[in-house]
Amino acid sequence: MTPDVRDRANGPARVGSRNGSGGAVPESAWDRALHLIRQSDEIALACHVTPDGDALGSMLAVAFVLRSMGKRVVASFGDRHFAVPRLLRFLPGQEMLVPPEDYPAAPELMITFDTSTFERLGLLSDNTARAREVIVLDHHPSNAAFGTLALIDAKAAATAMLAEQLIYRLGGRLDRDIATCLYAGLVTDTGSFRYPSTTPAVHQMAARLVAMGLRTDEIARELWDRSPFGALKVLAAALDRVTLEGGLVWTYITRVDRAAYGLPYAELEGIIDIVRRTDEAEVAVVLKEDDQGAWQVSTRSKGTVDVGAACAALGGGGHHNAAGYTSHDSVEDTMAALRRELGKV
Ligand code: 5GP
Ligand code: MN
Repeated sequence: MTPDVRDRANGPARVGSRNGSGGAVPESAWDRALHLIRQSDEIALACHVTPDGDALGSMLAVAFVLRSMGKRVVASFGDRHFAVPRLLRFLPGQEMLVPPEDYPAAPELMITFDTSTFERLGLLSDNTARAREVIVLDHHPSNAAFGTLALIDAKAAATAMLAEQLIYRLGGRLDRDIATCLYAGLVTDTGSFRYPSTTPAVHQMAARLVAMGLRTDEIARELWDRSPFGALKVLAAALDRVTLEGGLVWTYITRVDRAAYGLPYAELEGIIDIVRRTDEAEVAVVLKEDDQGAWQVSTRSKGTVDVGAACAALGGGGHHNAAGYTSHDSVEDTMAALRRELGKV
């Protein structure tokens, strides 16, 4: 394995300049990460709870490469009901996943993906607290840098962009499986190349990935263009009670709505994308009741309002235009608190 990334046939000519960040991750941090990885025989990977395409895709892509380097790799996320969301089951490499109870109690080296706070590690937070070294690979501006080494670039459109850099720096090469995982991250976090985070560097990375022979049409269908029938009925209930108040459009979905159709919580992810279309609204909010009865709050802004700041004030976090948090209050109280915070940002 060589640390020199410049001559890789499928790698970027200069890794540090490829994410449009001007090299927000210092070279010394990359060097330290490579050193830690090279000297470890076993590496434990983790991403945030209820993983999205960026979290799981980045983690599995790096897992493939570490495994090919001869490392023992475990990968997981800390959900109480450990299951890969249906729309991500097409991702290769899931045989490398272990449930949180089988995760090493005190890993020598951990790498976390797309995880902005310690809390987002869920059941794996204790393992992380006991780990000797924790490399935090992430692109959230609100990242609390909870580990021992931060590889954080808030300008990167996806954690997958940082994962690609790590792979090249490790001397790894893309193959179809790795490219599929990275592409899932890139396409998820750029909203299919629609969000303003979609820089030329994003398209250049997409070109490198698609060149591995990806069926992007099939990936798109898996991610967005299919769902069980019950998802339509639950969407109908959500739209039936949608409310427009000034520049705020919002709705909610209860676990009773879902129970009628046996619909898992993870199937609610796309509803915010329909609600946020509303021309009259600057901010869109969807409250989703999880299986434990807590409200998972999804917020989206068209740009003038920083929903990341509002959600951070309420114990969550995220990005300027897309953020979330958990509320244990009623729908009414949750919305009252959120309106107050949105009024401040
Ligand atoms: P979504 O609405 O898709 O669940 O989340 C949008 C974004 O908000 C995510 O990419 C993530 O960055 C952030 N986010 C959502 N929920 C939480 C949360 O509970 N805590 C933190 N820190 N960030 C969250
Ligand atoms: Mn992400």
